[in-house]
Amino acid sequence: MTCPLPERIPIEGFTYRDMKIDKVPATPEFKPRDPSLVPAKNRSVVINPGATCMPLGAMWAIMGLHRAIPFVQGAQGCTTYVRYTFARIFKEPGSIATASFHEDAAVFGGRKNVIHGVRNLVVRYWPDVVGIVTTCSSEIIGDDMNSFLKATKKKLAEEIGEERAAAVEIVLVNTPSFAGSQVEGYNRAARSFVGSLAEKTGDASDKVNIIPGMTYPGDIREIKHILKEMGIEATVLFDISETLDAPLHPPKSLPYYPEGGTTVEEIRGMGDAAATFTIQKEAGSAGAVLLEKKFGVKAFNGPMPVGVANTDMFVTALAGITGREIPKTLIDERGRFVDAMADTLHYTMMCRAAIFGDPDIALAMTRFACELGMTPVAVMTGSPSVTFEEDVEAILEEYRHLFTVEPKIFNKGDIFEFEEYLRGCNRLDLVIGHSKGADIAAECGVPLIRVGFPVYDRFGYQKKAIVGYRGGELLLYEIVNALMSHQYPIDRVQQ
Ligand code: SF4
Repeated sequence: MTCPLPERIPIEGFTYRDMKIDKVPATPEFKPRDPSLVPAKNRSVVINPGATCMPLGAMWAIMGLHRAIPFVQGAQGCTTYVRYTFARIFKEPGSIATASFHEDAAVFGGRKNVIHGVRNLVVRYWPDVVGIVTTCSSEIIGDDMNSFLKATKKKLAEEIGEERAAAVEIVLVNTPSFAGSQVEGYNRAARSFVGSLAEKTGDASDKVNIIPGMTYPGDIREIKHILKEMGIEATVLFDISETLDAPLHPPKSLPYYPEGGTTVEEIRGMGDAAATFTIQKEAGSAGAVLLEKKFGVKAFNGPMPVGVANTDMFVTALAGITGREIPKTLIDERGRFVDAMADTLHYTMMCRAAIFGDPDIALAMTRFACELGMTPVAVMTGSPSVTFEEDVEAILEEYRHLFTVEPKIFNKGDIFEFEEYLRGCNRLDLVIGHSKGADIAAECGVPLIRVGFPVYDRFGYQKKAIVGYRGGELLLYEIVNALMSHQYPIDRVQQ
């Protein structure tokens, strides 16, 4: 008699590699998908979204301030999900407070929650800054946050005294998630903090402001390296390199706040700076533009300095505005990068790459792929961007004569649509994008080069730089090594 039970799992278990997933319809009612519903614009649902929640971007920004805690005016899930995402990416603890909305807040509004919540936060943790981040629910029920904020400050002053209450900066960032993605959340945080805190004293300084956008600690350190080589002082607004990558010294007790992060004083001084450089145009330019309008601080918004041309543009603009020379050390770094490109061109040229991510990273990677002689078969962003298509098209136009196939642009598409398109491509050599592309790359049988937000399935990614000449060179090696491992037998690669 045959056993009706499935084969038993061996006592030693089995690996993922041994698992086979049958790709057969689960039910007889299964119908193949309607091809007209593959484009995201023909559907009223998003499948596998390419962007996430707007408050996340604002929280990312606030985590880069000194002694700051974001306070989320919404439900616990809006906070927990973000803390979980940050923990996965940065492997660091991060404090985010919540107004903890329940049914009563949905009916009566979140006034009580914010007043008591911020009071509790202040008397327990004595932060320098509380960044209040609204959410979908708070925005939909129409919380009058400006009046709530006044009431919160009044309550604090009554309880802890005017002076101590005034020492805590409370800044509101409105982030209705239905109106944009995490990129816009960061952008709004830049505008809110600059708008609330920056001042012009009249003492012009030759410092520059850097708004790094949703780049990683490794990238921020590379930007600081470039500035240091050029002898330029800078205020980095939202400096997560010092808070979300803080050192762990063998402790007797762990300090509650990391040592670093942008201070309130530094933000105040941003109105006196010589210029503001936004590393990612879509994530931060609102702050730079406000500084320009209010205080006449010149704004340079992107492109993200990835690859040779974009880094040249960044360094040249820095030199132009500050009058500093571009030092030999940077020229040599550029030379090494260009040398590496020449050494590896026979691996990268005519490769077909699919690129996706937030608008700035997708744009920067498109240009870099073109510089390497690749054809970007598809370029996708899931974050809404007014200029994305136009910006990608401008890059493609410069290199179109080298392409082996006409690229396709997906603006505000979802990852499902992007993947379906890639499956139909004749040939694909690599995917460049964040961790959500791991399945696409596996399905297409090509390597994934991880860049952008979020990268949660690799250790140490947040420490690496992809910006600047040195970052670009390392990124190039990662691309080439992935292609070599994937495309060539081990005994055929150049030794
Ligand atoms: S999308 Fe809205 S409801 Fe969902 S986590 Fe973000 S703020 Fe909260």
